[in-house]
Amino acid sequence: MKITDVKAVYPKYSHVQPSWRTHFWQIVVRIESDTGVVGYGYGGGGVASVEVVNRHMGELLVGRSVDSDADIAAAWDALYAASIPYGRRGIGVMALSGIDLALWDLLGKAEGVPVHELIGQRTKGAVPAYATGADADWYAELGFTAHKFPHRFDADADYQTAVDRASRARSIFGPDARIMIDTYMSWNTGVTLEMAERLAEFNIYWFEDVLTPDDLEGQGALRSRVKPVLVAGGEHEFTQYGFREVALTGALDLWQPDITWCGGITSGLRILDIARGVGAPVSPHRGGEVWGLHLIVASDCMDLAEVLPGQRDVARDELWIGEPRAKDGHIEPSDEPGFGVALNEAMI
Ligand SMILES: [Mg+2]
Repeated sequence: MKITDVKAVYPKYSHVQPSWRTHFWQIVVRIESDTGVVGYGYGGGGVASVEVVNRHMGELLVGRSVDSDADIAAAWDALYAASIPYGRRGIGVMALSGIDLALWDLLGKAEGVPVHELIGQRTKGAVPAYATGADADWYAELGFTAHKFPHRFDADADYQTAVDRASRARSIFGPDARIMIDTYMSWNTGVTLEMAERLAEFNIYWFEDVLTPDDLEGQGALRSRVKPVLVAGGEHEFTQYGFREVALTGALDLWQPDITWCGGITSGLRILDIARGVGAPVSPHRGGEVWGLHLIVASDCMDLAEVLPGQRDVARDELWIGEPRAKDGHIEPSDEPGFGVALNEAMI
């Protein structure tokens, strides 16, 4: 089939956390083909990325034939090459991610199969899910058996807030649960080493994003010093080229590419190839959303998916209809064609 139209839109969000996300949160990419089949993708980069798709990448895509995963990979390579002067990392690749995912959705719908079947043999059933967020009690009530909480270090008093939260999470989820901490780049090397000691009794599975993604060597140097805690990260890294640097520097114990930011499923598969070569486990950022979940169940990603349930009684945007929900602490994609979700047109 031939691509006839490509359009990106920034949805009307009502509940996006005020921050860079206000204007640069997720976009929707819609790709139409001459068969009448339409594919939808989910990318990052907000209003800027919408411009990248609508003013540049889209016109390069119209007229291309897409009938296989190899055709999608070729389109990815062409768009990546054409956007090198302004792309390579960040918004250019977040836009490309939305296009890539729309092409996988389109191909799945054209062939009447779920994306995970296009990717390959399904290797996992329902995937153990961990709940990320600040409402541990509610996540336990929802049936989650693993949990990641956010922690921000601003002052020395925050050693104690980390201990308090870890202690609470451990008591809620029990001695065997996986408990993780996302520091969102607010720790540093000294803080991380001190935290490893103070939190030792809570048996934390990983510390996430302890330094910035520009300090790959610094993160690599921490790995042996905080064992058995894993140094995790990668949501702010892009494409196979970015993760090649992660591999070369040995920066991370566990890789977390965001499939809607890092270049889509096509990049995800290439990142997995690199990870396999160095024996790094891969657990996609927000992997409980369909864009990562289809990759997880049909690849050698870890058997673990991140879910962000939000907070009890707090409203949230529902952009995609038919998204799988975690049940008994597990989540799995449907076998509907493509990614198996429909766009909530009321938000467009
Ligand atoms: Mg994170």
